[in-house]
Amino acid sequence: MKAGVLALQGAFREHREVLDALGVDVIEVRVPDHLSGVDALFLPGGESTTMSNLLDSSGLFEPLQVLIHDGVPTFGTCAGMILLARDVVDGRADQRSFDVLDIRVRRNGYGRQIASFEADLDVDDLRGGRFRGVFIRAPLVERVGDGVDVLAEHDGVPVLVRQGSVWAASFHPELSGDLRLHERFVHEVGAT
Ligand code: GLN
Repeated sequence: MKAGVLALQGAFREHREVLDALGVDVIEVRVPDHLSGVDALFLPGGESTTMSNLLDSSGLFEPLQVLIHDGVPTFGTCAGMILLARDVVDGRADQRSFDVLDIRVRRNGYGRQIASFEADLDVDDLRGGRFRGVFIRAPLVERVGDGVDVLAEHDGVPVLVRQGSVWAASFHPELSGDLRLHERFVHEVGAT
């Protein structure tokens, strides 16, 4: 089993480190050929506008969208959540998303003064206590569709959601030194 980590920009190394620690085989995805044989995908945090540009110039946008639509389990964090969302508010006009997760997100929606913060999150059915959420200029989830499960909230706002095999967090689980969310995703989607 092999996990592809989108490695065009942003915090892809940190995802790789978590997956390495879990014993998951990883390929860093930079060109379409890197997608062959991938069983699960991780879209890291970073800058969604830049990632959108690089997805176009690398030729990765269409093949990735097809894979995710076809059901390859995918976990997007922060900018990765924005890339998965159906509706993006306050995005750049030419910014594209894969439209595979029925949520509306507002880029940088937590506002300037608290643009970055940490919070302990209660995650549904996660053993071992609360999960430290690292939020960095995070997207604010403004709407979730009927088919979307909310696995964690902060101040009444969804911060970890799942729709089928597509997961997304507005925080950075790869930055808190806690393997449990990656482990659970990998376990649930059967990619080990
Ligand atoms: N604000 C960034 C964006 O719009 C996301 C920030 C992050 O991934 N830490 O893409």
